[in-house]
Amino acid sequence: MRSLRWALLGASDIAATRMIPAIESTGGRAVTVLSGSPGHAEAFATSHGIERATTDLGAALEGVDAAYISSHNPKHAEQAQAALEAGVHVLCEKPITLDLGQAVDLIALADSRGLVFGVNHHLSCSAVIRKLAALVHEGTIGTVTGIRINHAVFLPERLRGWRIEDVPGAGVILDITVHDAAVLGLLRDAPPATAAAQVARQGPWPKGAPDAVMTTLRWTDEVLAQTHDAFTVPFNSSSVDVYGSEGTLHATDALTQDPVGDLTLRDEAGVRAVDVGNREDLYVVSVRDFTAAVEGTGAVAVTGMAGTQAVAVALAVQEAAETGRTVDVVDVRGLLSPAR
Ligand code: NDP
Repeated sequence: MRSLRWALLGASDIAATRMIPAIESTGGRAVTVLSGSPGHAEAFATSHGIERATTDLGAALEGVDAAYISSHNPKHAEQAQAALEAGVHVLCEKPITLDLGQAVDLIALADSRGLVFGVNHHLSCSAVIRKLAALVHEGTIGTVTGIRINHAVFLPERLRGWRIEDVPGAGVILDITVHDAAVLGLLRDAPPATAAAQVARQGPWPKGAPDAVMTTLRWTDEVLAQTHDAFTVPFNSSSVDVYGSEGTLHATDALTQDPVGDLTLRDEAGVRAVDVGNREDLYVVSVRDFTAAVEGTGAVAVTGMAGTQAVAVALAVQEAAETGRTVDVVDVRGLLSPAR
């Protein structure tokens, strides 16, 4: 596998804890790191053995093959555009942007330059979630009627910064519901048509962005989904249930950053565990798939379109919560011009 030279755009917790090890385990190397703060960039580079630290986006992109973007959410689009214009492949954190048209423009830019543009929705790299999706599409549980996603977690103290403040790009919907939307994108062939939602501010911190949300999503083929996403639930076991006419698939403890979780099938033959194969590190899978796409030997785990659709669902949920109305979800395939 090709040894990619990476720029880290954003000196973030996720880069430090998950992505640098994943990059290294696939033979790549982070050679430069960008932060808005010179001191933070230097400290981050020193503690991770990165050659260059900078606050200049152009300088960060010099001499690299790929950029991993994990800055504050509102900065993703501008950084992705700069990277693509510099001829650099992009693996972007979710949410790609807060504006769907901007996301579609980034996809078109990547396509026009022959560059890879992937999104780091780690759950799409989970062996449990991949097996769940495969079984749904094989028809193992017949016709799907409903999906329930229980993704309520407790926000670790070290992450109680921008996520819970009243600032653009913050809140549980853009942080967790958007991941649910990516999982739903794997389970269904089309996005939900409508979203309804209510939010709350429950956490033991100053009230800012919503930190808990329950949603209802509905597809045109009468399928319903519920999600519960929260930063405020300290003792929980996450789950994804998919209900079908011939059975139910139940994924437990899989909505996490670690390569864990189980899958069971309940049908007329009873209840049994499903073998999901090798539970690999989700971030290693993401970087390896991205690297294969750059080499031309594979495809990214999550395409720009899939990541954009996940944002569209999240934005509809956000609007539904703000207005108290049921909101149409944009099907982002309709935003693409025929040339794209
Ligand atoms: P962090 O809060 O750790 O970092 C985000 C930015 O905050 C950094 O890029 C940096 O800004 C600034 N920052 C952080 N620490 C300091 C510091 N000590 N001093 C100065 N500035 C600092 O973010 P996360 O790692 O939690 O999230 C980053 C991105 O990754 C988000 O888009 C998030 O949605 C996504 N994410 C994805 C996950 C996944 O599993 N796919 C999991 C967690 C996050 P600057 O840009 O200026 O360097």
